[in-house]
Amino acid sequence: MKLNVNKDNCIGCGACTGICPEVFEIGDDGLAEVFVDEISEELKEDAIDAMEGCPTLAIYEEKEEIEK
Ligand code: SF4
Repeated sequence: MKLNVNKDNCIGCGACTGICPEVFEIGDDGLAEVFVDEISEELKEDAIDAMEGCPTLAIYEEKEEIEK
């Protein structure tokens, strides 16, 4: 599973880094980013909690399939 942050929507509130600091961090631009490539099974639940808890729904799952 891969997650990403849409920086256009992120407001830098820090909720995701609070819930799952193993996956999300606040970058130099003050916005959240995902710093792990692949989310491990152990972190999945927390990462999904963070995704669902994002107030602006800026976190999304990156699908493997390439859209045509
Ligand atoms: S919870 Fe959402 S809005 Fe807040 S820092 Fe994380 S990605 Fe940005």
